[in-house]
Parts: sequence; structure tokens; C-alpha cells
Amino acid sequence: MQGIVLSRRDFKEVDQVVTIYTKEKGKRELLARGVKKIVSKNAAHLEPFSIIHFETAAGKAIDYLTSVQPISTFVNIRSQANSTIAASRAVHLVNTLVQVEEPDTRIFDLLRSCLRYLNETSFQKVLLDGFALKFFDLLGFTPVLNYCVVCDKSAHDILAADLAQPEKENFQPGLYFMGGGLVCQDCRKKKVATGESIVVCDLKEVSNMELLLHGTWHVIASHTMEAREQAKLHHLIFEFAQYHSEKKLINWAA
Ligand SMILES: [Zn+2]
Repeated sequence: MQGIVLSRRDFKEVDQVVTIYTKEKGKRELLARGVKKIVSKNAAHLEPFSIIHFETAAGKAIDYLTSVQPISTFVNIRSQANSTIAASRAVHLVNTLVQVEEPDTRIFDLLRSCLRYLNETSFQKVLLDGFALKFFDLLGFTPVLNYCVVCDKSAHDILAADLAQPEKENFQPGLYFMGGGLVCQDCRKKKVATGESIVVCDLKEVSNMELLLHGTWHVIASHTMEAREQAKLHHLIFEFAQYHSEKKLINWAA
């Protein structure tokens, strides 16, 4: 079976429990016996974000790994600190939000393609935001970005209203997490007046989110943004992700 190593933790003196995301069975926790011994052949292959081929045997409480062969250890990622952190954050995010044995081949493919791209190129911050947004899309949390989720006004009309309003104070669209996406200027005003929380955003950020959601890794990496624009985009995506997560997330840009 093929899988991506998500994490490993010590278990007893020389064993470890290794969490692996497999294409066929989703997330699995397996016991790696004796892996902490210096002579263990498997130890090096079981580093997080390596892709391995492995075999298992049934155990009483937990199945255990009987053989491990590396398919890709992503040496280029491991040679760059930024890329190593990014890859670790990506597998950590999957590990945090995915339950054991709930297979989704799309999640496997997304994670593998992201790791391959990171391995072939130099690190760019925006890739992780793209990964997070695509991952949440697969989990069923896809932000509505082309119309107001309250009154159905199109993004085009929201943009027109934005351009027609020179005084922008208090007249900006927003992202309404509870409602599932974009809200127009008028609806944001009404919602804020009733005490609901809406993150202000502009249509530039909305189109950046569209690009992250639908673009290939290459398209995302080639998209130039100013540092401030990128920071705002990250903030928006992180808040969106945190809102839809029951667990507290580690900020992948930190
Ligand atoms: Zn509206």
C-alpha cells in the first residue's frame, strides 16, 4: 500500500506510532516496532511527508508495519528550511482535520501534488494558502465567492457598487463565514449592525481566493502579489479555515 507519512510519535521504548495517509484507506495509525533502534532500516523512511510503500500485519489493538520502502523522500524540500516547514505544515493540517479511515483519494492527490511541486520549485508562501483553501474545499467548506450569500447580488454588481462609492468607509463587502461566503456592502452593514462577525474584504482578495481555489500550483506560484496583499489574503484564508475547524489550527504562515 502507498501512503504519505503525516506524523510519528514515540510509543514505549523503541517503538513509534506512525500516522500515514493512504489513497485506499485514508488515514491510518500503525505501529513501527523497534524503529528507534540505531540499526533500524525503516527509521529514515518514516520521516513526515515522505511517500512510502509499506506492508502491514494485523495486531491486537493496532496493526503494525512489517516493511517500508521509500517512493519519494523529497530531498529538495528537505534541503531548504522554508520548504521543509511548509511541507510539515501541510501534512500537519491534514493530520489535524482528517479522521482515521475516512478515505478520500482527492485529499491524497492534493497533498502529493503539493509536495511534488514544492520539491521541484523554490518555496513561496502563497502555495500553503492555496493548499489550505483547496483542502477545505475537499472537506466540504467551499467559500461562495461569485455572489452575495444573503441577497444574491452578483460579484459584478458588488464591484460596480464599490467603484461607484468614493467614500469607502463602512461600505465594503465582506466574508461572512457563517453564511458561507461573500456578502455585499449593504448586507455586511446590516449584519454588522446585528452584531454578527464579518471579515471585511475587497473584490481583489475575492479574485485572489478564486485563483487559489481553481488555479494549478504553477498558476498560483506565478501570480504576483504585493506583500501586503498577500498578508491580507492569508489572514482571510486562515480565519476562514479556523472558523470551520473544531480544533485550534497552527498558523501555517507563522
Ligand atoms: Zn447582499
